[in-house]
Amino acid sequence: MVQLSFWEKESFFAPQDIIIVGSGFVGLWSALQLKLKNPAYKITILERGIIPTGASTRNAGFSCFGSPGELIADAAEMGEEKMWQLVEMRYKGLLEIRKHFSDETIDYDACGGYECFTDQSSDWSDCIAKTDWLNEGLKVITGEENLFKTADEKISHFGFKGFDHLIENKLEAGLQPGKLVQALLQKIQGLGVQVLTGIEVKSYQNHYHGIELETAVSSVKGEGLKFTTQQLLLCTNAFTKQLFSSIDIIPNRGQVLITNPIDNLKIKGTFHFDKGYYYFRNVGNRLLLGGARNKAFEMENTNEMQTTGLIQEVLEQFIQQHLLPATTFTITDRWSGIMAMGTEKMPIVKSIGNNVFCCVRMSGMGVALAPIAAMEIAVLMNS
Ligand SMILES: Cc1cc2nc3c(=O)[nH]c(=O)nc-3n(C[C@H](O)[C@H](O)[C@H](O)COP(=O)(O)OP(=O)(O)OC[C@H]3O[C@@H](n4cnc5c(N)ncnc54)[C@H](O)[C@@H]3O)c2cc1C
Repeated sequence: MVQLSFWEKESFFAPQDIIIVGSGFVGLWSALQLKLKNPAYKITILERGIIPTGASTRNAGFSCFGSPGELIADAAEMGEEKMWQLVEMRYKGLLEIRKHFSDETIDYDACGGYECFTDQSSDWSDCIAKTDWLNEGLKVITGEENLFKTADEKISHFGFKGFDHLIENKLEAGLQPGKLVQALLQKIQGLGVQVLTGIEVKSYQNHYHGIELETAVSSVKGEGLKFTTQQLLLCTNAFTKQLFSSIDIIPNRGQVLITNPIDNLKIKGTFHFDKGYYYFRNVGNRLLLGGARNKAFEMENTNEMQTTGLIQEVLEQFIQQHLLPATTFTITDRWSGIMAMGTEKMPIVKSIGNNVFCCVRMSGMGVALAPIAAMEIAVLMNS
């Protein structure tokens, strides 16, 4: 057992009003929203990595709220009402990001987004048939007329091969997720939130004086440190089952790669293809591509953070075939991150025990969802 000094016990390890487990987007936004509700809250975030180690610094940085194909599929699966609810959450989340951080701070690039189709894509005719309906609903949320519009003329401009149609969304954008996490960390630390890293929460128990947390500390052998808090918030996304086994979460690995800088790269924007199974964007003059989970569903239902030859090869072939058919490129970086999916797409924002809450399952769109899910949990915890 670590021998803490009297001073340490009265400062770093003093009983807290709120402990948040996990310092990804959701943990960080939750700390911010809770502090905005009540600046006097004593809040500590416990993170097991040296930096957040899940999805928030390992994603593709799409600042998006749903491509036409995805929204149609969502409406069929979850019902129209919930689909629009989710779109509104995401759109408001993106506005919230820009309310707090300048474009320069997070490399926000208002580049516009596109969904790509082939003539054979089963969802192409459906998207065309439903564009007016989608645009009516989106106008209510965004205020924009005719947000989704066909842009087939840009296919040759981008240099694509094998795509027949594009639908454009001028409100979609890209950002640098690592910088957004850094900016959030700085903001909440400035408000007095303590962030301790290298501490894994193993279990928690309610006692008469509060909730006690058992931890393992990466730098210490044997028993970890104990923490006490009045309220506990799990923001552990894909890893939540380890602390709360009955949660409806399936971990999903997402693999990504990025090319070397390419002279005169024609591709500019954020792009979705094949119901979102492929996503790509330019990052300056590099091309980032992720996805292909549908090539190995079972293998990718994992929280093992590594890349595999199979998926990486499919991704490289996709670039050669469709995106840079006449350009020599090399891959400079490959990585993976872990998302949380479940039997439905809505985030789980609720109480799961006596003074214990969770805000998890961002279903692969946490950049946009996290600020609003965090607002909802802050209201619940403050009530
Ligand atoms: C490859 C990929 C591409 C993506 N692309 C996009 C995109 O373009 N746009 C978009 O909106 N979304 C995207 N996403 C999804 C988005 O990144 C996630 O929805 C979002 O980051 C989830 O944030 P989170 O805070 O809930 O989870 P995470 O970022 O996973 O944070 C959870 C944290 O909890 C910590 N933790 C877990 N268990 C414990 C424990 N017991 N003790 C202490 N700490 C613990 C983890 O270390 C982790 O840091 C993508 C995801 C991936 C993987």
